[in-house]
Amino acid sequence: MREILVISGKGGTGKTSLTGAFAHLASNKIVCDLDVDAPDLHLLLHPHPTHTQAFFSGHVAQIEEKLCTGCGLCASLCRYGAVGFKADSFSIDPLRCEGCKVCVQFCPAGAIHFPEKHCGEHYISSTRFGPMVHARLFPGEANSGRLVTTLKQQARELAKSRGLGLILSDGSPGIGCPVISSLSGANLAVVVTEPTPSGRHDLERVTSLCFHFQIAVAVIINKFDLNPQAAESIEAFCGARGYPVIARLPHDPVVTRAMVEGLVVTELPETDFSKEVGKTWTKIEEIAASLRKQ
Ligand code: SF4
Ligand code: SF4
Repeated sequence: MREILVISGKGGTGKTSLTGAFAHLASNKIVCDLDVDAPDLHLLLHPHPTHTQAFFSGHVAQIEEKLCTGCGLCASLCRYGAVGFKADSFSIDPLRCEGCKVCVQFCPAGAIHFPEKHCGEHYISSTRFGPMVHARLFPGEANSGRLVTTLKQQARELAKSRGLGLILSDGSPGIGCPVISSLSGANLAVVVTEPTPSGRHDLERVTSLCFHFQIAVAVIINKFDLNPQAAESIEAFCGARGYPVIARLPHDPVVTRAMVEGLVVTELPETDFSKEVGKTWTKIEEIAASLRKQ
């Protein structure tokens, strides 16, 4: 089974629009949205969940009012200011509670419960391009790296049970915990960049991360014509590091038109841009196939 991950380092480079088009072009695959902090692939693929599961991670302290004696020890011990006193009783603000368990441990009345925190949901869905695994973290919730790992495990099991040979994933921007989790087990990282200083900077950071984890990299320069000089400099960087630049895609309003219609660009009547995207996907498949033979 092959695992291809599309990442960007920087947000807004066109990563998800391209992943959506690749999802259309790829066969025998499962699509996975690993950008769990701000998922948006569903806006293009319109998944219909067939299986929903709650995601629990970490714990949150809760005071049981009838057991509380009002001694105030928890408020004095909490380093996060999560315990408040209002209307003659103590209570814990779940948004401030860091789940350190100190108050639970020291409450003399045993009045503080410590249940697991319901942080979000994850789904197996059907889409017009085949099965999709995706998730939603509730606002402000952390542990997105763990959720990414959960999604990847689910995608692998599903791909195995349905005999699908490819997991195509849309990763998070940045180089943090969810990206590191996304890279685990990937065969190829397709990095979508743009010719801007921050695009270049974040490309350097994310390719260093891939190098660290020994994941093969292929680079797409999107909107290259917005700054051809900067695009050339990115190519020089990639050349020096041995990263193949598999596409230089122009800025084309057809991408926005497809987005507005809730489609991916390769579903619209054929354009020069969609032909380029088709060629790009063929190159990605060739690189992924060559990696398998190594
Ligand atoms: S430490 Fe326990 S008993 Fe004391 S105020 Fe807090 S919850 Fe109530
Ligand atoms: S678990 Fe820790 S952070 Fe949460 S209320 Fe208790 S002491 Fe404060």
